Amino acid sequence: MKNIDSCPVCKATTFKNSLTCKDYTVSQEQFAIVVCDSCGFKFTNPRPDDSVIGSYYKSEDYISHSDTKKGLISRLYHLVRNYTLNKKMGLITKYVSRGTILDYGCGTGMFLKTCVNNSWKCYGIEPDSDALKLATHNGANVFPSKAVLNTFDANFLFDAITLWHVLEHVTDLDETLNFFKAKLNSNGILVIAVPNHTSFDAQYYKEFWAAYDVPRHLYHFHKDTVEKLLSNYGFKLVETKPMKFDSFYVSMLSEKYKTGSINYFTAFMNGLKSNLKARSAADYSSVIYVFKKKQ
Ligand SMILES: [Zn+2]
Repeated sequence: MKNIDSCPVCKATTFKNSLTCKDYTVSQEQFAIVVCDSCGFKFTNPRPDDSVIGSYYKSEDYISHSDTKKGLISRLYHLVRNYTLNKKMGLITKYVSRGTILDYGCGTGMFLKTCVNNSWKCYGIEPDSDALKLATHNGANVFPSKAVLNTFDANFLFDAITLWHVLEHVTDLDETLNFFKAKLNSNGILVIAVPNHTSFDAQYYKEFWAAYDVPRHLYHFHKDTVEKLLSNYGFKLVETKPMKFDSFYVSMLSEKYKTGSINYFTAFMNGLKSNLKARSAADYSSVIYVFKKKQ
């Protein structure tokens, strides 16, 4: 196990235990989530070593890495995804009409496929080799790590970099954020979607909240900590958008973890409540943050 000695957001060195969560999808092991005394940032600590973290992704249930359509949750997930892909594209074209895009942690390349269809020049990073193969078939240039992109000409910059539920998985956070700073065009946008642990569904399900997803989720964000972290790397927050379907999906999984079976009605009502109680975009179950470089 790897102990994190200083807060990834503010560098403070004193933390309190916040929650103990179980890995329901792969190992059934328990992991502690700590909260930073100074800035309130929550992170999984200790966490599996970088050399073994990959083994915690080996599960058929880990659907972001596959296109399996088994089961109701999985079918709903795929149905909603097609709708949200177009919404995501719309959000990006509000800032940049067309150009070169990097989807960091692109999975099977579904979002990049949407970008290809909208005439973007598409790049992806995906460490899972099976997902990478599928993403390449969808028409994007996909690499297993950012190392290849570092060998490109220094003038090769992206107009948009996107991370759809990826930043919470990144082991080399400091290196990765510096990479985005170096590779994003001065007028480009950095789009980061992450779960929000201050949402109603997170407060309701507590240690059973599916979006804690330990130990794969290393960091547990909310608006203040995302904003502060990215500010350290020269980015300013320009917009937040809710992801309103996530509360339903996360509530269904959380209900399963909490009770052993899914009560669809309870899960649906909690998903709905989460959306209704969110008074600003930043209170939703998952939030999209749009950043630009500070000028
Ligand atoms: Zn901190």
